[in-house]
Amino acid sequence: MKALLLSDIHSNAVALQAVLHHASVLGAFDEVWVAGDTVGYGPSPNECIDILREQSAIVVAGNHDLAAVGKIDVHAFNSYAAAAIRWTKEVLTPESTKYLNGLSTTVTYQDFTIVHGSPRDPVWEYLMEYEAAEANLEHFDTAHCVIGHSHLPLVFTLEEGKDPVVSLPMNADEVQLSGRAFVNPGSVGQPRDGNNMASYAVVDTVTDSVMFHRVEYDIAETQRRMKERELPQVLVDRIAMGR
Ligand code: ZN
Repeated sequence: MKALLLSDIHSNAVALQAVLHHASVLGAFDEVWVAGDTVGYGPSPNECIDILREQSAIVVAGNHDLAAVGKIDVHAFNSYAAAAIRWTKEVLTPESTKYLNGLSTTVTYQDFTIVHGSPRDPVWEYLMEYEAAEANLEHFDTAHCVIGHSHLPLVFTLEEGKDPVVSLPMNADEVQLSGRAFVNPGSVGQPRDGNNMASYAVVDTVTDSVMFHRVEYDIAETQRRMKERELPQVLVDRIAMGR
């Protein structure tokens, strides 16, 4: 079985469509899993939710998703993120609000636990160092864990009696998931690793491996939509920088 791993789409429907197109050209996939932050920052929250519904995606809630439906106070965010959340709240359709309200913060599926931040703190913890990953091992029961939140594509593999391995995969890199592993597919809609191309991964549950991809998309079109919706200029500029 092959599943697309997506995270941090952040209302960037142009990037999401480019990723789905890229993945379908590469070959068939059976499922779509999303590690949170479908909305926030970007211009097309309803469109992104509609696409995930069409795909019958397995989706968890991230901090921005929870804020967009009032479950987290916007004061927990910086002023630019908060402005985008306020705007998102206003434009969400009743169906989209219902969809976001129905999301859990943790989903266990086959050999994977899917969260936004980390198993012990699914909403807020940034898993960027293997020490933190190691400390999270006792907080979930499956072999592997899909995470998002940091917007950085990475894999931690932790095997008993072996040194932990941290991989920072580039486009077309394949990583074997041995032992217990954490996989962050990077961000579809707002990459922050210095590369402005949309990031995603494909997990093959038969070979227990993950392939990482970067996809060019029409950044100018997303920026045009953001300006039209009067979202903060800092956020408009940011997606072109990949930071
Ligand atoms: Zn995010």
